Amino acid sequence: MGTLFKGGTLVTASEMVQADVLVEGEVITLIGKDISKRGHEVVNCKGKYLMPGGIDVHTHLDLPFGGTYSNDDFDTGHKAAAFGGTTMHIDFVIQPKGGTLHDGLRTWREKAKPAQIDYGFHMAVTDLREDVLEEIPSMAKEGITSLKLFMAYKNVFQVDDTTLFRAMKQAAANGMIVMVHAENGDVVQELITDHIAAGKLDPIYHYDTRPPEVEGEATNRAVVMAGLAGCSLYVVHMTCQESVDALRRGRALGYPVMGETCVQYFHITRDKHLGAKGFEGAKYVCSPPVRNDEHHAILWQAVRDGTLQVVSTDHCDFWYEGGVGPWQEWSKKHNGGNWVEYEKQDPSYRRPGKELGKGNFAKIPNGLPAIEDRMMVVWQLGVNSGKISPMRFVELNCTNPAKIFGMYPRKGTISVGADADIVVWDPKAKKTLSAKTQHMRCDYNLFEGMKITGMPVVVYQRGNKLVEGDQWFGHNGGGQYIARSTHAPVI
Ligand SMILES: [Zn+2]
Repeated sequence: MGTLFKGGTLVTASEMVQADVLVEGEVITLIGKDISKRGHEVVNCKGKYLMPGGIDVHTHLDLPFGGTYSNDDFDTGHKAAAFGGTTMHIDFVIQPKGGTLHDGLRTWREKAKPAQIDYGFHMAVTDLREDVLEEIPSMAKEGITSLKLFMAYKNVFQVDDTTLFRAMKQAAANGMIVMVHAENGDVVQELITDHIAAGKLDPIYHYDTRPPEVEGEATNRAVVMAGLAGCSLYVVHMTCQESVDALRRGRALGYPVMGETCVQYFHITRDKHLGAKGFEGAKYVCSPPVRNDEHHAILWQAVRDGTLQVVSTDHCDFWYEGGVGPWQEWSKKHNGGNWVEYEKQDPSYRRPGKELGKGNFAKIPNGLPAIEDRMMVVWQLGVNSGKISPMRFVELNCTNPAKIFGMYPRKGTISVGADADIVVWDPKAKKTLSAKTQHMRCDYNLFEGMKITGMPVVVYQRGNKLVEGDQWFGHNGGGQYIARSTHAPVI
């Protein structure tokens, strides 16, 4: 007996067609018109779209950062993702300073044990010693085929150009892809020092110390280096005209370069959000920073014309009002016990969050809650306004992520033999986004009050129901690690 998704409109990156989809076990076994119900459990999809599960290729669950940890972990973050139609994500393993890539991988495998949705890993290389350079090919055997390097966060994660270029050559030789956080971290650090010296300490100065030019410069540098190295490059979280222009030029030259933007960069603004009164702007601090409307329009054009291939989130949420409860004492008593346990002691306890940067914007933990809302917001702002078609929506959120990161066609589409990650999307269902109703572990919502028309109503992963309406059917350990293949196409 299988599960038959009946009467819906199938939406893939290339077509919209009336079809039934039969799932047996964990995979799709038949797609056709009027498939017989006999013996199958039927999911009535009349008036709904059937889409592949969303893939968010840029998340930071349970990430140690800026003196605290991001709130959502491989339990809460997974549940939140699935309620938004995302059934797989790729998180970043961070190589510990002085340690190996495998050291980092061990830590993240541990973090991922409660997984409820499928996941993969990128490897963030922070310390490229000779032995680490030689360790890189072994990552491909672990199913990790993407390396991330930071051109920003000086004295923390930032690497110099020699390191970046060496990593690119090694990645290219092994069929892997390099991802970069492209901002000129040296210039950013100088600007931060100048602003602090001038007493400019409010959240808005986070923007002024990371202007579009530093993103454009670094993007151009990475694009040119990738072209020279013959290395597939994927520029993460692009926000502005300057970086889009650099990528577009590289693609016109035939370089193997691609890029993503994140959902927040279509909507959240410097002036209204980051520049809000008092400390409120801290809620919107992420790097690169959110930009104003003129850049939003540039990004829409870039996802329409194919300059950008993916929309992700960079999900990395922190409490707006954190640091509540006797953390120091608790930690001592429990021998360095973890943040989740601490917060379970008493619902009013919270790990430190955005308030760490009160009085100094440079100390605000960078990151936002978005993993749950990505697809609904892109649908609302993109599809409902006519900027992109439902097919382009699927391509940006599901199919291209799977292709670029070596999981296609097992993931990212609805076809015979693919994993049965299926989202039943009701284009008429309405919802108002709010911190009060979200599943993300966070005390604010980026899109608070935004009215959405079109959302997931039923979500399946590998043939198992995760979500129906408000109900959760997933379980810890239900998510699987997905090993990815090398030599993925450049699109
Ligand atoms: Zn990130």
